[in-house]
Amino acid sequence: MSHLGLERLTRRFPGTATPAVDGISLDLPQGALLALLGPSGCGKTTTLRMIAGLEAPDGGRILVAGRDVTALPPHRRNMGVVFQSYALFPHLTAARNVAFGLEMRGVPRAERGPRVARALELVGLEALAQRKPRQLSGGQQQRVALARALAPQPDLLLLDEPLSALDAKLREEVRDEIRAVQQRLGTTTVFVTHDQTEALAMADLVAVMNQGRIEQLATPEEVFERPATRFVATFVGRAAILGAEVVGEGMLRAGGATLLAAETPRPGKAEIFIRPHHIRPLAGDVMAENVLPGRVLRRVYTGDIITLDCETAAGNLLAEVAGGSPGAALQPGQEVRLGFAAADLRVFPA
Ligand code: ATP
Repeated sequence: MSHLGLERLTRRFPGTATPAVDGISLDLPQGALLALLGPSGCGKTTTLRMIAGLEAPDGGRILVAGRDVTALPPHRRNMGVVFQSYALFPHLTAARNVAFGLEMRGVPRAERGPRVARALELVGLEALAQRKPRQLSGGQQQRVALARALAPQPDLLLLDEPLSALDAKLREEVRDEIRAVQQRLGTTTVFVTHDQTEALAMADLVAVMNQGRIEQLATPEEVFERPATRFVATFVGRAAILGAEVVGEGMLRAGGATLLAAETPRPGKAEIFIRPHHIRPLAGDVMAENVLPGRVLRRVYTGDIITLDCETAAGNLLAEVAGGSPGAALQPGQEVRLGFAAADLRVFPA
């Protein structure tokens, strides 16, 4: 059953030409983590703020467990919110910061102590309960903020770029920890990020947003392997886009070659794209469903993976090969036959 429902949610700021959030709808099952992913200004934060009750929509509805909360003030929505900046009270200890959220909700004093302890334990900070924020690292402060949001057992956890103030290594650590805690508690969560790796690594469902709309709402695998639009294909992961022409059902012409695709739009000008890890340099006379002849322009060695930037008559293609595989020995200037499966080719009308 849907735990969070958005129905044609819209927000138009006065004096702006286009809505910041343009009629988005989605259903999120109980216990799932949804990532709102998209470039700066696409409406992620505005969407989250409307769910939290910090921003009033101009249209549409917000439902939590079937209840319409659209008109409720933030404190009556039972949601936990964590922002990019930790927003902890600097003069209060970690424990008092967590207790504050419970106090605001009228949790009796006697109950607060054990609940604070449990929340801090959940994020692995029980030993640091008496420290003030300035005596904690960035990652630890963000964990306190998470504990504070979770202590009241919210119906919904809302996270707005909670990792962006952390350095790369810590970001990964806190990311995995947030996900583990969220799964252990089964708290339905909405997570705002512009970082695709973060979204793919954490989410059950990813909503890829562009200009106030959701371009695709699907699992991380689906978004990555089967992007619904050109925007999704280029925003999430690497992919070369080549010009082509659909000439029949499942058949294309590109750079003088005939290619097969599992699905094609109507005949006419089209764009095709293939993920680099789906392209294989073919040795000898090995065949594949699709073959484009090309030449290696550049070879980038990154240890486990070697990226070959290849020139073909249809345009440039990136191929990723595993270190130690036959294709790994290819060098700039060498001719190569690039093979890929029909199922791995995506075609968008141009
Ligand atoms: P970022 O990743 O940069 O935070 P975002 O996807 O979260 O971006 P929003 O903050 O939701 O985007 O903003 C969506 C659009 O609405 C932007 O064009 C922004 O300039 C505009 N906007 C946001 N808040 C206001 C406001 N209070 N008044 C006017 N315009 C606003």
